Amino acid sequence: MGAQPRLVEVRKNVLKQNDLTARNLREQFKAAGVFVVSLVSSPGTGKTMLLEKTLSLLGQTHRVAALVGDLATENDAIRLARSGAPVKQITTGTLCHLEAAMVRNSLDGWNLNELDFLFIENVGNLVCPASYDLGEDLRLVLISVTEGEDKPLKYPTIFNSADVAIITKVDLAEAVEFDWPTACGNIQAVRPGMEVLKVSAKTGIGMEKYLEFLTAHFEGCRSPIA
Ligand code: MG
Ligand code: ZN
Repeated sequence: MGAQPRLVEVRKNVLKQNDLTARNLREQFKAAGVFVVSLVSSPGTGKTMLLEKTLSLLGQTHRVAALVGDLATENDAIRLARSGAPVKQITTGTLCHLEAAMVRNSLDGWNLNELDFLFIENVGNLVCPASYDLGEDLRLVLISVTEGEDKPLKYPTIFNSADVAIITKVDLAEAVEFDWPTACGNIQAVRPGMEVLKVSAKTGIGMEKYLEFLTAHFEGCRSPIA
């Protein structure tokens, strides 16, 4: 007995410390003029694939870099580095989410002033990433058509912590009989008014609109009247 309240206390302190670190990061990012976008989803939704295309395409007009979190492997960083953008892996070991301190520690050696966009791919997990602010400007939550329509109902907290929902692998929607009205209805039920983008990183469907969305937010963050 007595162990439970202590655990709650420890957890509260961890989150409080994380919020402070995230706040410092956000100020640092703002001062450097870098726009920071994080991606969260279940494993297998296609975060890395979307990020690979994002770095290649956006990298033609903007200075882009990425941090990629994973439990054990460096495979995603190796894959993303093919885009030519600076990429660092954050290996979390047994930890199933990224924390602001990990982001801060990974920035060593990078000059943020030389970046326009920094992307952060979280560990594949729709639960605890919701609780950890990483200092990002924009949080994207991804669901793929192959996962079905009920993810928003099962994981409402992550949808409430994110700014935009991205439906991925839309080229497969017909094959898996993805139910668009139900999926979009579920998102709106959990988070009324949430913006939803639909993409296939593989075929390029929706990529133009998605990139325009990112650059519009980036320009907005740079504008003195925004
Ligand atoms: Mg990945
Ligand atoms: Zn976790």
